[in-house]
Amino acid sequence: MIQQKCALVCGAAGFIGSHMVKRLKKEGFWVRGVDLKHPEFSESTADDYLVGDLRDPDVCNRSLDRTFDEVYQFAADMGGAGFVFTGENDAAIMHNSAMINLNMLESCRKNNSNRIFFSSSACVYPSYNQMDPDTPNCSEDSVYPASPDSDYGWEKLFSERLYLAYYRDYGMAVRIGRYHNIYGPEGTWDGGREKVPAALCRKVVRASDGGEIEVWGDGKQTRSFLFIDDCIEGTIRLTRSQIATPLNIGSEEMISINELAGVVMEIAGRKLTLKHIPGPLGVRGRNSDNKLVKEMLGWEPLISLKEGMGKTYVWIAEQIRKTDALTK
Ligand code: NAD
Repeated sequence: MIQQKCALVCGAAGFIGSHMVKRLKKEGFWVRGVDLKHPEFSESTADDYLVGDLRDPDVCNRSLDRTFDEVYQFAADMGGAGFVFTGENDAAIMHNSAMINLNMLESCRKNNSNRIFFSSSACVYPSYNQMDPDTPNCSEDSVYPASPDSDYGWEKLFSERLYLAYYRDYGMAVRIGRYHNIYGPEGTWDGGREKVPAALCRKVVRASDGGEIEVWGDGKQTRSFLFIDDCIEGTIRLTRSQIATPLNIGSEEMISINELAGVVMEIAGRKLTLKHIPGPLGVRGRNSDNKLVKEMLGWEPLISLKEGMGKTYVWIAEQIRKTDALTK
């Protein structure tokens, strides 16, 4: 008899975690999800769901009451620029996320759940290589000398090192993906933790005809954005690979925030004016460098920004319609 494989998804209520649970269920895994809360936008498809705080070692040990074939660690105290770059949440971000990683990794080691994916971030890359919007450098080997522009990035870098130390010292199959701005349906779209793709979709839906939408800064800062389905595929492939070195999981389709607003307006068929206001910005330019991940993993994104943003826009417009119907 073939034994059913088991996976643990930490942060299973979150954007990426909830999509990962769905994917693993489709593949026939027995899945346990764990998070502080239940998913906001659809019921979890996990076989078992634990509501608990992963800063607490007992919760980590309870989550790992068996040996899992794959562990996905997505739980973190995080959000978009409005949450990460204001400085107001730095202590919570560093303390909470580091505690989760310290405890989870140790519980995995004790319970022989050796294959663990850690969701790191493009925010680990040094700010001195991201001053120019046209030529940022985010190749994996450019990460040191370290100088991330946020404490969120420093925590990710510390945790990368922690995971790599467990790989070296305990032989655990640690896999690290550096995500670059993941977006798509069922991601946070308001409330302060949303990221720019979702925020722009919301603003375009909500704007009055011929009106304006606010953009932080001059909007000339550049980024790339990866659609959730591509992110899940890259993550699964990396987790099941033999590659312990951190790899970028992102898109190389770099665009300015003003241009991204243009893409959303085109999808919506609306012509609005951009109003530039002061706001938290992050680095001036950032783009994924996929040379190494293509070479080592044979993975690259398949969904264009236009296609992914189209799907995201439709979903956010529907959420707004539902919310408005409820408040009428
Ligand atoms: P998310 O905020 O939607 O999900 C994170 C989940 O972790 C949330 O559901 C939250 O409730 C849970 N969580 C937080 N603290 C917890 C605790 N103490 N105990 C248990 N659960 C806790 O974020 P996401 O967009 O799904 O991102 C997943 C991971 O990927 C995070 O580690 C994030 O830092 C990383 N990442 C994401 C992006 C992106 O663009 N989404 C980019 C780079 C890195």
